[in-house]
Amino acid sequence: ASREAHTETSTIRAGSFEVGGKAIGVIAGPCSVESEEQIVATAKAVKAAGATALRGGAFKPRTSPYSFQGMKEDGLKLLATARDETGLAIVTEVVSPEDVDLVAGYAEVLQIGARNMQNYRLLEACGRADAAVLLKRGPSATMDELLLAAEYILDGGNSRVMLCERGIRTFEAHTRFTLPLASVPYLQQKTHLPVVIDPSHGTGHTYMVSSLAKAAIAAGADGVIVEVHPDPENAKSDGYQTLSCEAFATMMAECRRIAEAV
Ligand code: PEP
Ligand code: MN
Repeated sequence: ASREAHTETSTIRAGSFEVGGKAIGVIAGPCSVESEEQIVATAKAVKAAGATALRGGAFKPRTSPYSFQGMKEDGLKLLATARDETGLAIVTEVVSPEDVDLVAGYAEVLQIGARNMQNYRLLEACGRADAAVLLKRGPSATMDELLLAAEYILDGGNSRVMLCERGIRTFEAHTRFTLPLASVPYLQQKTHLPVVIDPSHGTGHTYMVSSLAKAAIAAGADGVIVEVHPDPENAKSDGYQTLSCEAFATMMAECRRIAEAV
């Protein structure tokens, strides 16, 4: 992953999605896939606002076993429908090594969640997969641990890895996690892998998401991943940190002005 090997940031392509090139990669969509109407409506709205990939969880790693666990393969099928309708590439989480081939059959980008950053068998399986990988930083992982986790995937033969800062656990409780934007310049001088910021999980509050997305772009992030839902108040997961489609469109208009200035 080192910059010494590649002086330029790697451009990663996955279907119609590109990150690490000139344009900022914008991955948007609900925390969880809930229904065909929900995912297709979100996909159309985020595409119209300028998103370049659709996110949506089908296998959900929830803190509580009593929370919604996702639609699993039925959710993957709905993501594929949304891709057919919009052309957006699909980013979705895979939580176990046995499911990597199944998920890679539906998605262009496999998301490795924060809770699984050090699931080495999962990292190895993603290293063998024919899909790009969005590797999220564990909430208690150091930068070196994140980079070594990325090495597992790269060493397995998959060079299409992007790193995602999604916030870490600190003593501070006013945000769900603490989102260190210094990760952007740090990782960019250390590695050639594109750096994506998640202001949704990084803050845990809808009203903060747009500010931190703009700050990430101003800091030079290669991409952002943002939770968007047509009706955040009734979302099955993470509604309190989710933008409505209208709020996402406003955020994108503001982000475009910042991206032009960077
Ligand atoms: C998510 O993207 O919905 C998610 C579960 O994120 P994280 O793994 O960063 O908590
Ligand atoms: Mn979420």
